[in-house]
Amino acid sequence: MFGKIEHLGIAVKNLQEANSTYEKLLGRPPYKEELVPSEHVATSFFMSGENKIELLAATDPQSAIAKYIDKRGEGIHHVAFAVDDIRAELARLEKEGFTILNKEPKRGADQKLVAFVHPKGAHGVLVELCQEITE
Ligand code: ZN
Repeated sequence: MFGKIEHLGIAVKNLQEANSTYEKLLGRPPYKEELVPSEHVATSFFMSGENKIELLAATDPQSAIAKYIDKRGEGIHHVAFAVDDIRAELARLEKEGFTILNKEPKRGADQKLVAFVHPKGAHGVLVELCQEITE
């Protein structure tokens, strides 16, 4: 099942600059920074109340984030939903006709198994599914 919005992902050019901007905005520093080598991104996470914001910066020009920023500039990049069974949800969404970008869930930042749904089928929004890794 789909649960709450787990976080909003924001594509930024420079993670350190964006960290300092969001620290001023939210009144607190990021609680975590993490490299995701498989995605060629550096991430940082902020809490605002019970909501989470993920900043993503490319570490390589081949990164999807670099391409996104080249095309559309900085801004909201994806909406992530918490799911309890990512494989079951991916199978359901595929049956519903959504395009799944990675059928095999991969390890994302912040102890999550993640998969993405193409924005074309979701009215322009890149949707991330994330399931907490408990091990
Ligand atoms: Zn995300």
